[in-house]
Amino acid sequence: MPPGAGGPGVTRRLLVASTNAHKVAEIRALLEPLGFEVVTGTGLPEVVEDGETFVDNARLKARSAAAATGELALADDSGIAVDALGGEPGVRSARYAGEDATDAQNNRLLVERLEALGLTEAPAAFVCAMCVAAPDGTLVAESLARAEGLVRWPAEGPGGFGYDPLFFHPPSGCRFSELSQDAKGAVSHRGQALRALARLLEGTPDPRLDP
Ligand code: IMP
Repeated sequence: MPPGAGGPGVTRRLLVASTNAHKVAEIRALLEPLGFEVVTGTGLPEVVEDGETFVDNARLKARSAAAATGELALADDSGIAVDALGGEPGVRSARYAGEDATDAQNNRLLVERLEALGLTEAPAAFVCAMCVAAPDGTLVAESLARAEGLVRWPAEGPGGFGYDPLFFHPPSGCRFSELSQDAKGAVSHRGQALRALARLLEGTPDPRLDP
């Protein structure tokens, strides 16, 4: 039995505070073998992601979902930080070129800003913070991970999303958009953060199950 599973026949439920099916599938694939039942919520409250850091935003989302549902809730926040831009787009990655910006618009703006500095490539890191919160606001587990690489342009590769077509990952020798989902998960910021979180959860007693 996995130590975090709460005892024979008992499954620990975790609500994932995300509507992104890709993220939910990734989280489920890693946590279910450890004895966690991964569920999603409908009608979770909208959260204004106005934290200054990825960790702040992950906490906001996890606490909001846990309070609204009475479940242990897991949330993440992620983005790309470019050294030459002082860490931008950072927590504003999804809305870099405006509130409803598309991936293509965000990517174009990022390249324009780097070209304006006279650069032809730029060191950058994808960052992911994950947080599990209890309904009373207690932080049960947190993790933070980075994947280091270079922003290169023009965009390449058929897969991925967001800034993947611009992100060259030296250990993989290609853009994130050229990796399979499994290969990306093995090295990505989100995959690493999720595995670290899973290790913490395995050792964390659930007060409602293990009083
Ligand atoms: P969120 O964590 O869903 O709020 O995502 C923030 C934004 O960061 C996304 O909309 C993408 O633009 C970017 N981002 C986060 N993770 C990745 C990734 O693995 N690949 C490409 N872009 C990403």
